[in-house]
Amino acid sequence: MSALPSISGKDLETYDVVVVGAGFAGMYMLHRLRGQGLTVRVYEQGGDVGGTWYWNRYPGARCDVESMQYSYSFSDELQREWNWSERYAPQPEILRYANHVADRFGLRPDIALNTRVDGAVFDENTNTWSVTTSDGRIVTAKFVVLATGCLSNARLPDIKGLSDFKGKVYHTGHWPHEPVDFTGLRVGVIGTGSSAIQSVPVIAEQAHHLTVFQRTANFSIPAHNTELTAEERDAFRKNYPEIRRFAREEARNGIYAELPDRGALDDGDNARRARFEQRWAKGGLTFMLAYNNLILDKTANDTAAGFVREKIAEIVQDPETAKRLQPDDHPIGSKRICVDTEYYATFNRPNVTLVDIKSDPIDEILSNAVRTRAKNHEIDALVLATGFDAMTGSVARIDIRGRRSQTLNQKWAEGPRTFLGLMSEGFPNLFIITGPGSPSVLSNMIVSIEQHVDWITDAIAWMRDRGLEAMEASREAEDQWVAHVNEVAHATLYPQANSWYMGANIPGKPRIFMPYIGGVGVYRRICNEVAAKEYEGFVMTTKERAKKMVAS
Ligand code: NAP
Repeated sequence: MSALPSISGKDLETYDVVVVGAGFAGMYMLHRLRGQGLTVRVYEQGGDVGGTWYWNRYPGARCDVESMQYSYSFSDELQREWNWSERYAPQPEILRYANHVADRFGLRPDIALNTRVDGAVFDENTNTWSVTTSDGRIVTAKFVVLATGCLSNARLPDIKGLSDFKGKVYHTGHWPHEPVDFTGLRVGVIGTGSSAIQSVPVIAEQAHHLTVFQRTANFSIPAHNTELTAEERDAFRKNYPEIRRFAREEARNGIYAELPDRGALDDGDNARRARFEQRWAKGGLTFMLAYNNLILDKTANDTAAGFVREKIAEIVQDPETAKRLQPDDHPIGSKRICVDTEYYATFNRPNVTLVDIKSDPIDEILSNAVRTRAKNHEIDALVLATGFDAMTGSVARIDIRGRRSQTLNQKWAEGPRTFLGLMSEGFPNLFIITGPGSPSVLSNMIVSIEQHVDWITDAIAWMRDRGLEAMEASREAEDQWVAHVNEVAHATLYPQANSWYMGANIPGKPRIFMPYIGGVGVYRRICNEVAAKEYEGFVMTTKERAKKMVAS
């Protein structure tokens, strides 16, 4: 396939496609588009490829989906040649894998590192985008693909006095590249989400004293991480065709696992407990697959939540600390469930203190302490594990202007609106990978990334074959999809939690359940049907129509 006819512009760099971000989504997008003979430029604000795995280098960072599954499936050679060392690979290994992919598929020449995309403006006369980058360039492209990641806009908490703190302050999502040594230091960690739950046990081993400031207790399931043997890797590889098929087509969350055949209330107390024990012993995210109604029925959910609360009480020796660590304000799984190594046991260490900042709130940060209502907690270093402006945050940082100069931020002021999470009406030829309205963060991200990239590649090829100028979600299809995403979410327990899925962690952010909860298999079928029906729900602009629109 030859390149799309590029717009002429003597002084401008012109590409068929600009991709924003060189994480797992951006890299695979580049690979697929180049395979179609298109000219592509990828802009990446980080100093190297890897996206979330480039930035999140905090101690203990590792994937919470098994690496044999959290890896690309598009190349059989790749999945056979790369040897994951552990069940859940640590961040440095995942970053090495990202670099290996960049080198193996020769991606680097088309990636501009250390370059942020600041703005993108759609020109209705030419049906092209002008993209402005942080190094002062303006490039044009027929298509823009946002591969900006869902959890890449690290969020600093709005706590009085934060800038007065004299020690080092770290954010887990923006960790330094040089080693950080907490030996002999008194360290404070604010936050108890997945990032804190992974880093707290590791920091506790180094620090002289660790104080964990918890606003909301979280449910965490042991990872039971181990080294992978060659036999285990081979067993996976032997079954890869079925494992990958199942993850794509049948799983709700893009993970190959045994699916439950019954609800939690279908078993008696003893059988239910035995099943939870079995899942606890297996570890990881699939704990929530013990029964098929845990996230649908509050009474069923209570049985799982009660089981985990009992486990916390068994592990944590001090009853007061155990009680504070037991979540009681949201159904289990309605916030992203955490996966840990010795998190709860860490609170048995004599050098670790848990401070409940719901009952004893942080008033301010002093030069050498976190001052809660009750006392000053003296610290030498502060770790903010306070999360991200998720799903929309990194898109919102780009000044994106579509038809009639409307900005995407204006359009999404009351919450993100997309058709299939892939496109937003009024923003032609602008695709989003794993955007709001798609399964995205509720799934094994690589499965969802590959599906979106393949769908976008096919859509662009389809347009090109027909000489089409622009593709855009229709208002009607978008309205229906947004309503559907909401309806499905509200049939579950998810909206009952103040989670980042709901935008609840960002003051002023609209409370809308952002990801699509219908499951990756169902969602894939919907996307495929839309494509099979000649992209039903999308408006295509032909050259003739474009000319008429310009003339009128
Ligand atoms: P998070 O889940 O949003 O957790 C942020 C924590 O900081 C919460 O405990 C929150 O308390 C607290 N917090 C936020 N603002 C605060 C403030 N002003 N004062 C006190 N506490 C505050 O963020 P995260 O832990 O970085 O995880 C985000 C997501 O990234 C995860 O859900 C997961 O999807 C992904 N992740 C994945 C992995 C993995 O694959 N292993 C690892 C890390 C992260 P509240 O709950 O009260 O708001």
